[in-house]
Amino acid sequence: MPETVTQCPLCASGRSLPFDRSEFHGRLVENRLCRDCGLVFQSPRMTEAESAAFYADEYRLFQEGSADPTARNVNAQKRRAGTLHDFVRATIPSIARHLDIGCSLGILLQHFQTEYRNQAVGVEPGEAHRVQARKDGLAVYSSLGELEQAGEARFGLVSMSHVLEHLPDPVGYLTHLRECVLTPDGWLLLEVPNLYAHDSFEVAHLLAFSPHTLREALRRSGFTVVKFEQHGRPNSQILPLYLTALCCPAPQPDASTTLSASLSPVRPERWVALKRRIGMFWRCILARLFPQRAWLVQG
Ligand SMILES: [Zn+2]
Repeated sequence: MPETVTQCPLCASGRSLPFDRSEFHGRLVENRLCRDCGLVFQSPRMTEAESAAFYADEYRLFQEGSADPTARNVNAQKRRAGTLHDFVRATIPSIARHLDIGCSLGILLQHFQTEYRNQAVGVEPGEAHRVQARKDGLAVYSSLGELEQAGEARFGLVSMSHVLEHLPDPVGYLTHLRECVLTPDGWLLLEVPNLYAHDSFEVAHLLAFSPHTLREALRRSGFTVVKFEQHGRPNSQILPLYLTALCCPAPQPDASTTLSASLSPVRPERWVALKRRIGMFWRCILARLFPQRAWLVQG
């Protein structure tokens, strides 16, 4: 049975309003708006156990029409790997160890390995994709817990491309990455759909980030944003479909307090519903005026 979310996943407030009801592949998806911080989150949503079963068996079938890797999926991952490398190349000169969470077939890992000659490790809950990535010679675990039990050393780069919006506790997860998985001078690279341009409301998306709420989730997790961009690559030249952020751990305040304890409360965002309406309206206008630049035809 789905669970009702009683606390905002970003600020823990109990005050929320209905925000959106959409149908996605025949399932009703309901999202709420936190009245205190402005985060949009799905409620009711799958329980943790339902989520684990969903990602192990159904997710790829549901999302891509096949549980096994498809040529279309491979091409999409190759294009996205190129855009993410372009995003970081001027800032990150070298990497010793790279962890990609939600690595799918490992295409991003392989792309970065070619560029940086680094060790590459992945986490992928979908069995068919994990097995294929392992056949290609990559070390891939089924979960972050399994990776940590294996005693893997820390990583200088952790990437999460279109993963954070699937997690029930984004701040807890990112804080854990900073404290236990990333090296103190490491990099976190992540990309999520943009609430103000992307359809966003899918059954597996527990959260829908705006630029503001993504920055606040990162700040509350103890990260400093070094580079942040709204863009459409590789699918659009002009629609800001995605939010991409490159971050590093924020400086430690002093020895007597933890970084998490020193952070100020979540700063609220206002007019979220209006911004969503304007953003989606603007997307329609741009797609009408410049159809070929709005949605790039991919081979
Ligand atoms: Zn909130």
